Amino acid sequence: SMDFAARVERVEPSATLAISDAASELEAEGVDVVDLSVGEPDFPTPENVVQAAKDAMDAGHTGYAPSNGIPELKAAIAEKLADDGLDYDPDQVIVTPGGKQGLYEIINALVDDGDEVALLDPAWVSYEAMVKLSGGSLTRVDTAAHDFALEPALDDLADAVSDETELLVVNSPGNPHGAVYSREALEGVRDLAVEHDILVISDEIYKEITYGAEAISLGTLDGMGDRTITLNGFSKAYSMTGWRLGYFAGPEELVSQAGKIHSHSVSSAVNFVQHAGVEALENCDEAVAEMTEAFEARRDMLVDLFADHGVDVAVPEGAFYMMLPVDDDDAAWCQGAIDEAHVATVPGSAFGTPGYARLSYAASEERLREGVERLAEHGYL
Ligand code: PLP
Repeated sequence: SMDFAARVERVEPSATLAISDAASELEAEGVDVVDLSVGEPDFPTPENVVQAAKDAMDAGHTGYAPSNGIPELKAAIAEKLADDGLDYDPDQVIVTPGGKQGLYEIINALVDDGDEVALLDPAWVSYEAMVKLSGGSLTRVDTAAHDFALEPALDDLADAVSDETELLVVNSPGNPHGAVYSREALEGVRDLAVEHDILVISDEIYKEITYGAEAISLGTLDGMGDRTITLNGFSKAYSMTGWRLGYFAGPEELVSQAGKIHSHSVSSAVNFVQHAGVEALENCDEAVAEMTEAFEARRDMLVDLFADHGVDVAVPEGAFYMMLPVDDDDAAWCQGAIDEAHVATVPGSAFGTPGYARLSYAASEERLREGVERLAEHGYL
């Protein structure tokens, strides 16, 4: 057999992808699956963005782009970040093929064998995999016990981190729980980061999708400007998952080091896609607001439907996910739910938090209602 690198043997394939594969297989057999497993808006990409990509292709923007991004997009990103209260020069931005690639570059630029990275559980599945690929070790802090709020978990975070901690990843609004961290909670993170000289990735990919609570950019807090790497992307807010477009901004020296990984791996994000990204940032406020409104209505509906069945969920304040409390053996619950009720969800254990199933409500109200009915019918609620 082939002799694979230790780094790749340390990681498992993405659990979310495994579930959506199982759903696709059932569908191929003709089974109607209510797929609540995917982290993808169910809306088309706004038409003006599609048109901008076509125009860019027609205008000949089909060659290699500058590695860190086209100047127009880097400038538009710096402006967007300024609107969020963040002070980054366009040269402190790297445009990546998806936010995921950006995270991969940051983590690989910072984390050596044995370096410690702290995660707040439940945490998006790929953080763990990326840290393991880079040889880092993980220290994990649970927030589930407090309905996914961060402030009550700060003492545990204080116990978990030390001067040995290299990096902390914060994701608000968060996948898989939809929590939006309060200013007080983020100030607590700031105090620990400053005390122990920890760099923090602030994954703000769901920042645009909130239901009243303000998603604060961590880098705006006093003392965080030069220790925060701000990550964002176009997949979620603009329903552009397949376009593969994201970015990060951070201290110049980090951008310079991560830029080496960027240029030697992907070269650049797709040229005409970057032109469409400018249009998304500049002319999509209304589309984003409409999609967010739809997500909010679905959230409200789901919370009510579960309450009707006697199940209380922590009410998400952003993103489009919800954690449903299920059996301790959440993997078995999810497998049963897809096999018997034909409802696809993702086990919380994939995010470091057993006892829950993650539901995505980026699906129509009709499908969500159908999903809850099926779960109830088959004894899963
Ligand atoms: N960060 C979080 C928390 C996510 O949920 C995702 C996508 O699921 C990403 C980053 C990366 O998204 P993309 O690579 O499509 O920009």
